[in-house]
Amino acid sequence: MNNFAIAVHGGAGPDSDSIRKHKKELEKGIQRALDKAYDLLEQGGTAVEAVEIAVRELEDDPLFNAGRGGAINSKGEIELCASIMDGDNLQSGAVAIVKNVKNPITLARAVMEKTSHIYLGSYGALSLAQELNLPMEPDAYFITEKQFDAYKEKRDQVGGNAQAIAKEQVGERMHGTVGAVAVDKKGRVAAATSTGGTEYAKEGRIGDSSMIGVGSYANNKTCAVSSTGDGEYLMQQVTCFHVHALMEYGKMNLKRACKHFIRDVCKDIKGDMGIIAVDPKGNVAIEFNSVRMHRGWKTCDGDSFVGIYQEE
Ligand code: ASP
Repeated sequence: MNNFAIAVHGGAGPDSDSIRKHKKELEKGIQRALDKAYDLLEQGGTAVEAVEIAVRELEDDPLFNAGRGGAINSKGEIELCASIMDGDNLQSGAVAIVKNVKNPITLARAVMEKTSHIYLGSYGALSLAQELNLPMEPDAYFITEKQFDAYKEKRDQVGGNAQAIAKEQVGERMHGTVGAVAVDKKGRVAAATSTGGTEYAKEGRIGDSSMIGVGSYANNKTCAVSSTGDGEYLMQQVTCFHVHALMEYGKMNLKRACKHFIRDVCKDIKGDMGIIAVDPKGNVAIEFNSVRMHRGWKTCDGDSFVGIYQEE
């Protein structure tokens, strides 16, 4: 049997009163996602099943910016994005600008497994969800008080004009995402990522999270990686594939590749960046440059951790 392990994140970025206030609940949410995925892996489930179940758990949790609790854009709407990748066969699936689908990660997995495509957007993704009878929810289900207050505050500041949020402010806005990486008993790895994006973004904005190679990447030869932070910078660095490339071509091990990527390659980047990763041997690595990243891991040799701030 191979060493199995799961790691999850609930977003990297600036601190806030709300995060400090809900620290315990946020940690409980991370723990629940870890436990569900770990139990599944222990019973012989696949890495793909494990990352999907962990991300679904966080999508359903209103405290995280994915699924229910997603960020509200400048039109007052929630547009969700998600991606999943199976490192065993390099198959992947992704959806962008999806509304009303309860679990965008399950829709991304359906794109991977039930269609001949990889990436579906907007009404096409929605019609696949309807064809497959995936659970749908009305707009009100997704909107939380916290996100609505953040939306109103921004709207009052910029007077309804999303362009008024200058490019230089990209590294200062609130955002969030959830993600999971897993290695199963057979040594197969998988990654999954889901997001409501950045608050008060222009409608139609797509970040890194649903992009294969940027938000999620998995390859049994090297690792599985899920990223979070300022999407515009994560895309610039082709984040998750970059870590894979440092391992495959740069011959670095998992921990070194993750550390080198965040601390050296991205050292001058003014935005938030965070990654979680596992390799097929069951090693886990987490790196981030922001003050906090909701995160945790659980491995079959009894190692586990849940925390939010850098110093934990
Ligand atoms: N990367 C996400 C995005 O830019 C947000 C985040 O991870 O915090 O949409």
